[in-house]
Amino acid sequence: MARFSVLLDEVHNLRLASHNFAMLCLSASTLSDSGPNDARVVRQRLREISGLWARLRNAGDHILHGSDNHLIQIMSKAFTRQTEDSFRCFEDIGISICTQLLFDQRPETTELRELLRVVTEDLHQTIDGLLAAARHVGQIGDQSASRLASVDELTGLPNRRALYDHIQRYDAGHWPHSNVAVMQIDLDRLKIINDTMGHAAGDKALRHASAAMVSFDHPNMFVARTGGDEFVLLLFGDFDSDALKDIADQLIAAISTPFIVEGKECYAGASVGIETGSFADGLPLDSFIRNADLALYTAKNGGRGKSRFFSPTLRTQIEKVEELQSHMREGLQKGEFRPYFQPQVEGRSGKIVGFESLARWHHPSRGVLTPFHFLSAAEDARLLDQLDQHLMVSTFTTLRTWIDQGLDVPQVSLNLTTSRLLDVDLVDSILFAASDAGVDPSKISVEILESAMIDNTSKRMIENIKNLSAAGIKVELDDFGTGHASISNLRHFRVDRIKIDRSFVKDVHLYSELARITSAMIGLAHSLRIDVLAEGIETPEERLVLNALGCDHIQGFGVAHPMPASDVPDWLQATQTTKKLPPRRRKNSAA
Ligand code: C2E
Ligand code: CA
Ligand code: CA
Repeated sequence: MARFSVLLDEVHNLRLASHNFAMLCLSASTLSDSGPNDARVVRQRLREISGLWARLRNAGDHILHGSDNHLIQIMSKAFTRQTEDSFRCFEDIGISICTQLLFDQRPETTELRELLRVVTEDLHQTIDGLLAAARHVGQIGDQSASRLASVDELTGLPNRRALYDHIQRYDAGHWPHSNVAVMQIDLDRLKIINDTMGHAAGDKALRHASAAMVSFDHPNMFVARTGGDEFVLLLFGDFDSDALKDIADQLIAAISTPFIVEGKECYAGASVGIETGSFADGLPLDSFIRNADLALYTAKNGGRGKSRFFSPTLRTQIEKVEELQSHMREGLQKGEFRPYFQPQVEGRSGKIVGFESLARWHHPSRGVLTPFHFLSAAEDARLLDQLDQHLMVSTFTTLRTWIDQGLDVPQVSLNLTTSRLLDVDLVDSILFAASDAGVDPSKISVEILESAMIDNTSKRMIENIKNLSAAGIKVELDDFGTGHASISNLRHFRVDRIKIDRSFVKDVHLYSELARITSAMIGLAHSLRIDVLAEGIETPEERLVLNALGCDHIQGFGVAHPMPASDVPDWLQATQTTKKLPPRRRKNSAA
């Protein structure tokens, strides 16, 4: 039903828009006096009309590409070369008016009126033909329940079933080209949009993406929505890989343009897997689609927003990742991933200043695994976001419990995956989880790898870091000294603390150069009023030197190993309460 009503809607919209456009052109050439301004308005309207036309044609194309011969006949009568021509003619006159206005040459009104009348009338005649066809198609379509099963209601695109119907026709040799390129397209951020902004926003993202694909003007193209955030695009004809890469990149760019949800800019992003093949080899098209899907998989692992071609070695690599992925997924479901907490204390007093939350996997057969064993695998298996989200929620819930127990925990810090720094929803998702757990943002700190600063200092990242600070969340630079970040980057946003990497701390008491470098880092940070924590302190000697160099805070096995949440109250009791409240002895207490 959606597709037929889409067709009818689009025809109505185009009729209205073209009428309004003609009026606009007339008033722009008589009333106003700023040509370039008018030109901008006219051009914008014209663009909207072109978009409408593209959508209308696509809605028609899907009927033409369907399997109902009766509907195809009706549509092909309405969609003729003449239809196309009359729209192009309308578009041409729009463009020419636009150009004249741009150079402040107002068209002669009577001439313009006549011209617009002729062209608009011609277009309207065409549109009326389409309208009749759309109504007819709609009636038949409404009656034909089986047709409904091939349309994706949300986007009006053909669905998976329609795609396979289409392929069958191709396999039967009904088409003029024997070569095909298959693009498997997947939205990168649908999940996070759904999670953070709700399903209405997710729907909007899907419609935005499908409109972007549909308006991508290419003959012999067929687009279908085949799953939640998956689309398949077929291009029939001969293409070399450069041309295909170009097309894929254009698609990614078009899908990644921002759209507005409730006044907020939002973007969906996309990755593309590509496979090409020839029907002459007798291969079924769905094997190309499966290969394109594998290529998509690696495109996503390669950092998203990319396109990748299929190659046979991909298959074995992917099988390994998939095995791990399934184990991890199971583990996540069963709550096998938990945060461990490592204390951070003032170097001199030993007073607690916070805990770092570190991921651990309680593996059913391998015991407690550190991130070394699963982090990069999680990333490959696209589970890192889920893992981080799970650990964040679990960390906040734990923190809430501690606060409720009256424990003095100044803050907890989370490790942020660098890619998340580019996420528009980063701050909202942290704040949401914090408020859900009843944790104040001032109790949260995020650790960003120093190296993130050099590779990726994008506007979005800087914005995110600023917004974190604005929300009261602290920001720390992790592994400081190893990332070679330019100090000048620190001008762009507020950093609350740097964490000097263990490589500068280990045996610092034995090597004076290490002490000098560390001392310089501490001096620099302090001059910018940034706190300093030294990581990986193992021995009293190291601690002593760091204290002497003026380092504010320390963390390491020398203070405590990362521990499960359940051990934290006892640890605090053993190390903190005695220091804070030294037991008083009355001098002459009666024994
Ligand atoms: P990191 O952020 O630099 O964390 C500090 C690492 O040093 C931790 O390793 C910690 O156990 C270890 N460490 C602490 N004190 C000492 C010490 O005195 N000596 C030595 N040799 N090591 C010490 P871990 O827990 O294995 O984590 C490794 C890395 O994995 C972390 O490095 C962090 O980058 C990443 N990571 C840990 N948890 C998470 C998480 O939940 N999400 C993300 N995205 N990354 C995480
Ligand atoms: Ca860290
Ligand atoms: Ca670190």
